[in-house]
Amino acid sequence: MDATFHIETYGCQMNVYDSARIRALLLAEGWREAGGPEAAGAVILNSCAVRGHAEERVLGRVGELKGLKAARPGLVLALAGCVAQERGRALLDQYPQLDIVVGTESYDRLPQLIQGVRRGGPRSCDTSFCSCDRLPAAADFEGRPAGYAAVMRGCDNFCTYCIVPYVRGRERSRPPREIADEIAAMVRRGLRDITLVGQNVNSYRYGDADFPALLAAAAGVPGIERVRFITSHPKDCGRRLLEAMADGPRVCEHLHLPLQSGSDRILGLMNRGYTAARFIELAALARSTVPGLSLTSDVIVGFPGETEAEFRETLALVADLRFDAAFTYRYSPRPGTKAAGLPDQLPEEVKLGRLDELIKLQNRITLESNQAEVGKSFEVMTEGPSRKGGGQLVGRTRSNKVVAFASDSDAAPGAMVQVRISGATTGTLIGVSA
Ligand code: SF4
Repeated sequence: MDATFHIETYGCQMNVYDSARIRALLLAEGWREAGGPEAAGAVILNSCAVRGHAEERVLGRVGELKGLKAARPGLVLALAGCVAQERGRALLDQYPQLDIVVGTESYDRLPQLIQGVRRGGPRSCDTSFCSCDRLPAAADFEGRPAGYAAVMRGCDNFCTYCIVPYVRGRERSRPPREIADEIAAMVRRGLRDITLVGQNVNSYRYGDADFPALLAAAAGVPGIERVRFITSHPKDCGRRLLEAMADGPRVCEHLHLPLQSGSDRILGLMNRGYTAARFIELAALARSTVPGLSLTSDVIVGFPGETEAEFRETLALVADLRFDAAFTYRYSPRPGTKAAGLPDQLPEEVKLGRLDELIKLQNRITLESNQAEVGKSFEVMTEGPSRKGGGQLVGRTRSNKVVAFASDSDAAPGAMVQVRISGATTGTLIGVSA
């Protein structure tokens, strides 16, 4: 079977980044990208375990691929990422169609593991913690103008609902030189907008270098136009970082700051390390320090024992803070985490009802925030043609808002275009290139 591969990615920016590194690794070994799973010699599913639903989706996909594997026995099927790390070898017993299980910190061995199976070797599982940051190739984002560079991996925070410290390990920061080299390699490939990613970027530390210093260094890489970062933790985000954002002309005016709950009791049970009052202070400091800041967040409802009154505290805080956008979730117990063992797990219908109310509130705020941009002009980095067709292009503002716009010229991906906003929906600004 051909040395061709197909990767499907589930979950967060770190998984998108890891898939881009797996792609680069396989290309460096002489593999080519296939048009889809049917044409590939190896199919790699990069999985997410942060919520039960994400885990079910990827395991459902493994089930779907059983037929393809039966029709083409030479196909190598690999499961990578957080579900692989969490469940390990048991997956090989449970899914006979799977050839390889490879964890979050061992995917640098994937080319060897695939070759082993292709040569008739046994099915294999590797969930050891080696360093996936010492890979020979920079992440490959398939010619797109925006991409990610991991600055640190793992997390020491142990929020009680979160599985990340168990499947990604403890915090490890990468050397600043290595990060700068990877960004420079991405810029040479044509990327212009780089997001520095890590589970908790604000706690980056390597020798004397902290995250504000790293951000300034990344923004200084020649040829880069925009630098962003995700995800911040409110307990580690301070004035120096906000000043580095305000002072760096290439650092984008976007801060993703997860709130999670508006109730101090629930924040305590979550082990988040801040109160609602501290978050309000920080949001105000961020907005006053960084002009034009877009503030986005994550909010969880239905944490074990959350009362109706505590949920109302979250709604009230979301209404006051007026995030430009927020990812909203209902609590999903993850095996092995502390919160999964707490009493008073709420019924699904209560969680769904609360989530529905929160989504309606945030959608209204997001729409109002987008409508407030009508009449303004923004620099938009073109990403390509709109999926809706009609000759429109799509791109992003520095504040990370998606813009669909009509343009006389055929702006190539990565081109910066000045766009005047004429309309808005919850998800998109609509405009015309100036
Ligand atoms: S900060 Fe908390 S929610 Fe974020 S990755 Fe770490 S443990 Fe998970």
